[in-house]
Amino acid sequence: MNKLPEPKQPEKLIDDKGLRIDGRRLDELRPIKLEVGLLDKADGSAYIEQGKNKILVAVYGPREAHPKHIAMPERAVIRCRYHMAPFSVDERKNPAPSRREMELSKVIRESLEPVVLTDLYPRTTIDLFIEVLQSDGGSRCAGITAASLALADAGIPMKEMVAACAVGKIEGKLALDLSDAEDKYGEADIPVALVPNAGLVTLLQMDGHLTLSEFEQGFTMALEACKTLNAMQREVLKKKYATIKEAAEEREEAEVVA
Ligand code: ADP
Repeated sequence: MNKLPEPKQPEKLIDDKGLRIDGRRLDELRPIKLEVGLLDKADGSAYIEQGKNKILVAVYGPREAHPKHIAMPERAVIRCRYHMAPFSVDERKNPAPSRREMELSKVIRESLEPVVLTDLYPRTTIDLFIEVLQSDGGSRCAGITAASLALADAGIPMKEMVAACAVGKIEGKLALDLSDAEDKYGEADIPVALVPNAGLVTLLQMDGHLTLSEFEQGFTMALEACKTLNAMQREVLKKKYATIKEAAEEREEAEVVA
């Protein structure tokens, strides 16, 4: 099995001022950029930058299930492929799907399935392609946040969007939204996905060791961050649809004048 190349170990993960290697406070998210509807050929698409992560998501569907035997008579089948580009990490990644990518494809799909109204589209598939262009820790969470947006952009009915963020422990302290180096040289990493209004957690994994009270405190930090990300998701969708509405109104006005 391929061993992952280790990121260079920083001397300290937290400096004397309590700041992390990228200058963040312990409870701070990395800078986030969200975009929707940037691909013409897909039914829906979204892009996320979360720190150095750059992830593009495309959605196709609901469309007739192919091959036919995977179709479910009472609902749509969601398929998900999380894939890291060969140039997404320091050493070229083998483009063939790894065990890790298969696991992540599964957990991302399972974190989104509970919100999609699949029973409206029997015998169809909804395909999600999550392409990690650049990766720096927390890519499954960033992938979930962007995938929810892409599903919304495709007009697929959902109860609400899922947002995700990891929390972890570095040098004995809880820290939000770990980067790759913090994940590798820290003590724990817990990715969490939340359906905010329903209060439903659809992803909870844990790598490393935490006491129960650290877990409870860290989990609360992650849930708060998911809510912040969810507000950003809604904002970017509102902006897009406000622009479309404005353009339609301008067109209507122009037609009236003509
Ligand atoms: P996540 O990206 O959700 O945190 P992991 O904890 O498995 O998932 O991975 C942490 C980070 O390790 C990834 O974001 C990526 O930057 C790095 N990584 C994963 N796979 C590879 C690989 N094959 N080569 C180099 N770095 C990798």
